[in-house]
This record gives sequence, structure tokens and C-alpha cells, in this order.
Amino acid sequence: MGKVLIIGAGGVGTVVAYKMAELPEVFSEILLASRTKEKCDAIAARIGSSNLKTARVNADNVPELVQLIQAFQPDLVVNVALPYQDLTIMDACLETGVSYLDTANYEPLDEAKFEYKWQWAYRERFKKAGLTAILGCGFDPGVSGIYTAYAAKHHFDEIRYLDIVDCNAGNHGKAFATNFNPEINIREVTQKGKYWENGEWIMTEPHEIHQPLTYPRIGEKESYLIFHEELESLVINFPTIRRARFWMTFGQEYLTHLRVIQNIGMAGIQPINYEGKEIVPIQFLKAVLPKPEELGVNYTGETSIGCRIKGIKDGKEKTYYVYNNCSHEAAYAETGTQAISYTTGVPVMIGAMMFLEGKWKKPGVYNVEEFDPDPFMKELNIHGLPWYELSDVDLELD
Ligand code: NDP
Repeated sequence: MGKVLIIGAGGVGTVVAYKMAELPEVFSEILLASRTKEKCDAIAARIGSSNLKTARVNADNVPELVQLIQAFQPDLVVNVALPYQDLTIMDACLETGVSYLDTANYEPLDEAKFEYKWQWAYRERFKKAGLTAILGCGFDPGVSGIYTAYAAKHHFDEIRYLDIVDCNAGNHGKAFATNFNPEINIREVTQKGKYWENGEWIMTEPHEIHQPLTYPRIGEKESYLIFHEELESLVINFPTIRRARFWMTFGQEYLTHLRVIQNIGMAGIQPINYEGKEIVPIQFLKAVLPKPEELGVNYTGETSIGCRIKGIKDGKEKTYYVYNNCSHEAAYAETGTQAISYTTGVPVMIGAMMFLEGKWKKPGVYNVEEFDPDPFMKELNIHGLPWYELSDVDLELD
């Protein structure tokens, strides 16, 4: 039994609150806090659980966070606000002596560049304070790293080639929308591509490398090589990996909109002066795009995210594919959000459970693949994200 403070009341925060409230024997008290308290109140009213309370907090402000944490005294702070708030929330956790969990690595507001270096720099401070920080505990990053750790533990003596494949074959019926925070999403997918090969990072132009891949129950979808943050920690934690790549599917309509948005300057992250007021183009764009948490109605189809791995077991080459498919309709029926928020929120709840039950608890700052994957994999099957394994199959990726 433990007390958890959830920060962020968007699509992901909604699912985390739903899933935690279902398990009062694990999460005895939950406080959902965000910049806009009304959003927390609306979620709490939908869930209708007596152990879920709400609060307002500006997570950019360390003293405000410290005050809230001191008043509530949680065992764990779960950050599902934005990556910009990672460091302020970690600072507040250190100041108040509380452990930390998040789903996306820190990114400075004025530079579209995500790396773990800022958060890894907290290792000694968390260790000294006897606190645990669990980084990247959504689906990808998150389950993608746990799948890799599970494969390394049970299926391979040596992982050599890792391809994380992320397909959203859903249809939300809108001309253009992003499945999670539009600002973070557009910053991520418009970056240059990058993958790991033979001990170095290879850079590519955005969306330069692509090929069709076949996804279970979905079929063939054009998949684009992009850089994704878990690659950075996985190649360090599994040093036998010779090549690690990340593939994501995009529809032609999405890519066309993205190109226009970039070409007309609406993806810009530097402030511009508009009629005497400073505005950031991508933040203005976010304000007019559909909200991720409102996409769920009428969203049809499935996501399919997994790891395709090639390596050595008992002296022989072996292939292995572990994946989950998640239905947008089923996610919406259960939590009122679409599958992207669902596939992120469920692992957050499980990660928090792992911490509270003492299974994932060690002083320091860790990526998810540094913990035992087994208890986490077991809970995925129980809480809505069942996984499937295929061995010695064609991975379609040389
Ligand atoms: P949303 O934009 O829907 O929600 C973000 C929430 O954070 C909003 O409620 C917002 O408040 C709140 N917030 C933003 N800034 C602050 C602040 N300064 N203080 C307090 N609250 C703040 O995003 P999502 O729910 O889609 O995504 C949440 C996180 O999950 C993101 O970091 C995203 O990168 C990550 N993610 C991770 C994935 C994974 O698989 N690992 C996949 C998808 C998302 P307000 O409503 O007032 O704007």
C-alpha cells in the first residue's frame, strides 16, 4: 500500500489515474495534480473513486512542487506532464526525499534535443539520498526496454540486432492530429533520424530510410526509421548489440501535413513577435490542433508495438519477436482515451506498482531495462497489455 502523486492530467495522466484507482490495495491514496485543476477534477469525477483527490501545481516551479509534496507526503511522484518538467520534478523529489518515475526524457524548451545526459547527471544525488528514479516507463520508451531485457534474460545469450517497431494502424477520422502532446510529438518526428551500428551513431535525414513491415493482425505498413530515446540507454545496457534501430509507421496524409507545417514555419520553437506579443509557433499550433485526450471517440483500429531481435542462443543464430496489439475502441471503452495514451499509462501504473511492492527499488537513477523484467511482464498480461512471442520467424529486417 502506498501514496502516489501523479503530475499531469492529459491523455496519459487520465489512464494512470484510472488504472491506479482500480487497485486500492496497491495505491491507497492518489493525488492527481496538474497546471489546470479543472482537468484533474473532470477526470476524478469520471472515475468516482474516494481514494483519488486533485490539486493544482505548476511543475516548472520547484518551491510549489515541494510544498505540494510536503503536504501530501507521497511514496512516489509519477511525472506524466511534459519532458520540460523532468528536472524540476526531480529536484523537488530530492528536496523532499521522495522517489520518482517518468515516461519521457528531459528536453530543453528552446532546443528540440532529447538525451538522457541531464537526468543521468542526478545518479549520485538519488543514490546518496536513498531514492529511486525510474526513467522512461511508458510503452516506448518503457515496455520496449522491458521486452529487450526479457529477451536477453530468457531467449538469448547475446542480442546482436534490435529493431523496435511501432505501428499505429488506427483511424481517428481527423485530417491531422497527434496521438500524444502535439508539441512533443512534432518535435520528435521532425528530427533527423539516428541509429546505432558497430559502436557509433549513424545520422540520416528525417524519414530518409523507410520500408514496408508486416504487423500482426494489421498487415503491411510503410515504416520510417526515426531516432527514439530508448536506443540511447539500450545500447549501453546491452553492449553486445551491434545495431539498434527504431521504426514508426506514418500515413501519407500525416506526412504531407507535417511537411506543410514545417515549410510554413509552424513547427518553429523560437518565439516570434505577433502584434506586440511573443508567441512560439509550435505552441500556437498545439492550441488549434485536436487534443490527444479527445481523440478517443470514434477512433478505430489497433496499435502494434514490439521488438524484433536477432542474436545467439546456445551457439546458434535465433530470431525473436515480442509485441502487443492494443485496440483504440477497447482503450476508449475502458478509460475514455485512445490506445496511445492507454499503452503509455498502463506501464506507468505497473512501474509504480513495482516500486511500491519493492520489486523495482534501488537507490539511483535507472532506465527500465536495468530492473528485473519478469514481474513487470506478468502484470502487463493482467492489466490490459498482453504480449505475444514469435520465435525463428522472418523479421523482414536485414
Ligand atoms: P498532454 O499534453 O495530453 O498532457 C500533459 C499534461 O501535463 C497536461 O494536463 C498539462 O496541463 C500538464 N502540464 C504541462 N505543463 C505543466 C506544468 N508546467 N505544470 C503542471 N502540469 C503541466 O500529454 P500526454 O498525456 O499525451 O503525454 C504526457 C507525457 O507522456 C509526455 O511527456 C509525453 O512525452 C509522454 N509520452 C510517453 C510515451 C511513451 O510511450 N513513453 C508515449 C506518449 C506520451 P494543461 O492541461 O494545463 O496543459
